[in-house]
Amino acid sequence: MLNLFKSSKQINNQAIVEAVEFLGRYEVGVVEQKKLINFLQNEDERSLYHTNPRLISERLDLSEQDTLQLLVVALKEGIVTLNWDIQCPKCHGIDFAATQLGEITTYHVCPACHHKHESDADQQVRVTFSIDERLRSLSERADDLGFRNHVDAEYGVVSGHRLLTLQKFRDLFPRETIPPNESLLIRQVTILFTDLAGSTALYSQKGDSQAYSLVSQHFQILFKIVDQHHGAVIKTIGDAIMAAFTSPDDGIKAAIAMQVEMQKFNGLANQASGSTDNQLILKVGVHAGACISVTLNDRADYFGTTVNTAARVQALSQGNDIVFTADLLSRVKAITALKNYIGDPNYVTLKGLSEPIAVFRMTATP
Ligand SMILES: [Zn+2]
Repeated sequence: MLNLFKSSKQINNQAIVEAVEFLGRYEVGVVEQKKLINFLQNEDERSLYHTNPRLISERLDLSEQDTLQLLVVALKEGIVTLNWDIQCPKCHGIDFAATQLGEITTYHVCPACHHKHESDADQQVRVTFSIDERLRSLSERADDLGFRNHVDAEYGVVSGHRLLTLQKFRDLFPRETIPPNESLLIRQVTILFTDLAGSTALYSQKGDSQAYSLVSQHFQILFKIVDQHHGAVIKTIGDAIMAAFTSPDDGIKAAIAMQVEMQKFNGLANQASGSTDNQLILKVGVHAGACISVTLNDRADYFGTTVNTAARVQALSQGNDIVFTADLLSRVKAITALKNYIGDPNYVTLKGLSEPIAVFRMTATP
C-alpha cells in the first residue's frame, strides 16, 4: 500500500487547474470548479486519500448529491480514483483491495481476521475517493487511519449502494458492474415500477408516431424526477420503468412527483391540441426490502422477492394513483407528509407470494 506514496510530496498545480476546468464540458459550473481546485491544491493530504465523500461535501459546501455527481465526472476524467472499501463486520478493519466494483465477490474474506462475510452494499461496502497521484503525490502521512475513523464517526459513510443508485454513475460507468456469477447483497432498497394504462388503445387511437412521441416525453419526465430524487433508472421495459432508491422517502416522494407532473403534462397536451384525449395514465407501485444486485446484459440489475413484489404492487395501481406496501410505509421517515393520503390497508395475496401483504392506495392530487 505504502509504495503508492512518494518520499517528497508534489502538487502539480497547473495540471489540477487544467483537469478541473475541463469538467466544464460536463456542465460543472465555474464556482464548483474553483472550489474543487482549491480543495485539491490546498487540502491537508490526509483528506485526499480514501476520503469520505461527506468530508468533501462539507469542504466544498455542496450537497451530498451535488458532491457525488462532481466526483463521478472527476473520476471519469482521471482527477480522482474511486475505492470500494470493505469493512469487516467482525474486526471493523477496512480492506482497501477493491478499486473496481468488478473485484467484489459475493463473499469477502477479511485480510486481517480472516472472517468470511457476505458483501453487503449498504453497510460493509463504502465508497471513498483519492486524488490521482499524477496531480498530487501524497506522502506516507496521508494514510492516517485515526483521522479517517474520526471523519467516519463524525459524518457517517457513503455506502456502495448509494453510488450504484446515482444516475450519473450508471450513465458514465455502465461497465462498472459486479462480476458474472457474483452478487451483492442490498439490505434496503426502494423499488418503484411505473407503467402506462391503456397504452395499446393510445397507439391505435393516435397512430404509432404520435403515441410514441407522447410516451417518449413521459419517459423524459420520469427520468428527471428519478434523478432529482437521488435514484437511478435500472431499466425500461416497454412503456414501463423500474427505478431504485436508497431512501424510502425519496422513492415515495418521486412517485408523488411523477403523478403530479404527469397531470400537468396531460393538461398542457390537451391545451395545445384543444382536445381532452391526450391522456397518459400513469400507474405507480412502490415497495421496499432487501434484494441482490447482479450483472445482467452488462448492466447492474436487481433481483429478488422485493423486486417481484414491487412489480406486482404496480399492477394493482389503476392509474393516476400510487400503490405502496406497509413494508415501505414502515421505513418512511417523513410519515406526516403522507398522513393525509393514507387510509386503511388492503390485504392482498399477490401472484407467486404465499402470504398476503398490506398495501395502501393514494390518489396523487396535488
Ligand atoms: Zn476482520
